[in-house]
Amino acid sequence: MALIKCPECGREISSTVTECPHCGYQLRKRSQKVSLDDTQKKQIFIICLIVTSPIIKHYNKKETNTIS
Ligand SMILES: [Zn+2]
Repeated sequence: MALIKCPECGREISSTVTECPHCGYQLRKRSQKVSLDDTQKKQIFIICLIVTSPIIKHYNKKETNTIS
């Protein structure tokens, strides 16, 4: 945790806050959080692929078994 200067009012504020408590200036921390959410969505998508691919393979095996 570090103190940074608000670009709007110039007062010292914590670097962990998303907006200045003195003037309400929005710091660009939320956009970083959005990018983190995007990577989380990608991870969830990859996990879904890993989970569903054996199920798809299982159904494909079932289909070939019924044909032969
Ligand atoms: Zn401020």
